[in-house]
Amino acid sequence: MNKFNDIRKLLLAKRQELLQRVSNIQRDLRNEDNPVEKDFEEQAVQMENEEVLNALDAEGRATLLKIEHALQRIEAGNYDICSMCDTTIPIERLRALPYTELCVDCAAEAEE
Ligand SMILES: [Zn+2]
Repeated sequence: MNKFNDIRKLLLAKRQELLQRVSNIQRDLRNEDNPVEKDFEEQAVQMENEEVLNALDAEGRATLLKIEHALQRIEAGNYDICSMCDTTIPIERLRALPYTELCVDCAAEAEE
C-alpha cells in the first residue's frame, strides 16, 4: 500500500480497541437490568462509577476523532505534511506520535 502501512495498521487496531471499549461503556450505561439501589451508600458508589464511565467515554471519543483524522490524512497522502508549514514530518516523529499533524517546530509554537 504505502509507506505508512504499519502506522495505519496500528491506528486501525487502536480504533478497534476504542470502539469496543466505548460500546462496552455505552452498554453498561444503558443497563436497565441493574436498577439504582435504594441504599444511600450503594447509590453513591453507583453514581461514582457512572462518572468514571462518562469520563472514559469522552476520552475514548476524543482519541477516536484523532485516529480518524490521522487515517484520513494517510488516505489523502498528506499524513507526513505539517498542516501549518507544509514541511515533511520525519517518520520517527510520526511513529512516536501517530496522531500528530504538526512538525516539531510548529508543535512547539502551538504549545506556547
Ligand atoms: Zn510545521
